[in-house]
Amino acid sequence: MTYRAYVEIDLRAIASNIAAVKRTTDAEILAVVKADAYGHGLVPVAQAALTAGASWLGVALLEEAITLRKAGISHRTIAWLTPPGDDFESALKHDIDISISSLKVLHEVLAASRALGKKARIHIEVDTGMRRGGFLGDWETFLEEILNVKDELHIVGLWTHFARADEPEAHATEDQIKEFESFLSDLHSIGIEPEIIHLSNSAATLTRPAAHRSMVRLGIAMYGLSPDIKTLGDASQYSLKPAMTLKAKLSLVKHAPKGSAVGYGGTAILENDTILGVVVLGYSDGIPRNSDASTGIWFDGKRAPLVGRVSMDQFVVNLGSESMATSGDYVTVFGTTSDGTGYSIDEWANASSTINYEIVTRIASRVPRIYLN
Ligand SMILES: *Cc1c(COP(=O)(O)O)cnc(C)c1O
Repeated sequence: MTYRAYVEIDLRAIASNIAAVKRTTDAEILAVVKADAYGHGLVPVAQAALTAGASWLGVALLEEAITLRKAGISHRTIAWLTPPGDDFESALKHDIDISISSLKVLHEVLAASRALGKKARIHIEVDTGMRRGGFLGDWETFLEEILNVKDELHIVGLWTHFARADEPEAHATEDQIKEFESFLSDLHSIGIEPEIIHLSNSAATLTRPAAHRSMVRLGIAMYGLSPDIKTLGDASQYSLKPAMTLKAKLSLVKHAPKGSAVGYGGTAILENDTILGVVVLGYSDGIPRNSDASTGIWFDGKRAPLVGRVSMDQFVVNLGSESMATSGDYVTVFGTTSDGTGYSIDEWANASSTINYEIVTRIASRVPRIYLN
């Protein structure tokens, strides 16, 4: 049996990307492995990142952190999206660092800590401008409360998140850093000195050494992709190599006459007699349905554009009248090819008006991940 489609993950690329970033900073590296490591596979990527020199792991959800612990990974791990009602006792039992950005969650974490007789390790998130997570209006109340309970907690970190670090010209990031300093001095003024200060995502890690502080949270760059190719340029400029390649079989290859209307809605009309290939991947696998003909697949040194609409489990490409492809051959949808001329993840993103983050994270779990290391 052979796979109808698979994602190839080059763990050497992940290691090399971490090494490339390590050459540019003294900060510790937290490998961001949320969302199944951006679709690359949570546990294998976490292990590769730690081996390559990352010292922390970061995830959004507590469940993701617990999965890491159950896989035997005991390195420091933060879960930063912990709504009220999460299982904080499990977080404490598994030694998971918890981010706190509301009084309600602070109270729940304290209750869990008292119930278990074990100090929680917390990172305080402050909202310095993004207006998403983090303390803002209730900061003064928080300061009063934390003063009373600080000996019951291990206050490990203070952190924030940038909204516009991928725009090197924007003042917003400088403004956020100033706001951050003011939150930090509020904490110092009540005698709290967090050990770990962290602000930077990949964009800030690549472009703002002054924002690195004690630790950087490295996401998209670790996977070898640029946070924004328009404003920051291609990942190769930063010596980063994409780790994900998506391959699929042609289930069928056939001649089709000029004038044929291809796919649902007959939205694409063939201009010439040609050979079509049916690729066994569709929108349920994470191929964006609104992808246009500016993207496609690579086979045997040539690009073959997408024709017509992407279906749930398959899409059609125009292989050209000279194609030697036969059914059962594998094509490369995106990623590394022997001659480097395949479609990139950024081209696929552009062809469906989205970003590379969305392309990699939504490749469905029914597409197996194969690891190169
Ligand atoms: C996802 C995430 C990151 C990583 O962002 P990249 O742009 O992928 O580097 C860092 N910090 C937080 C809080 C995140 O949610």
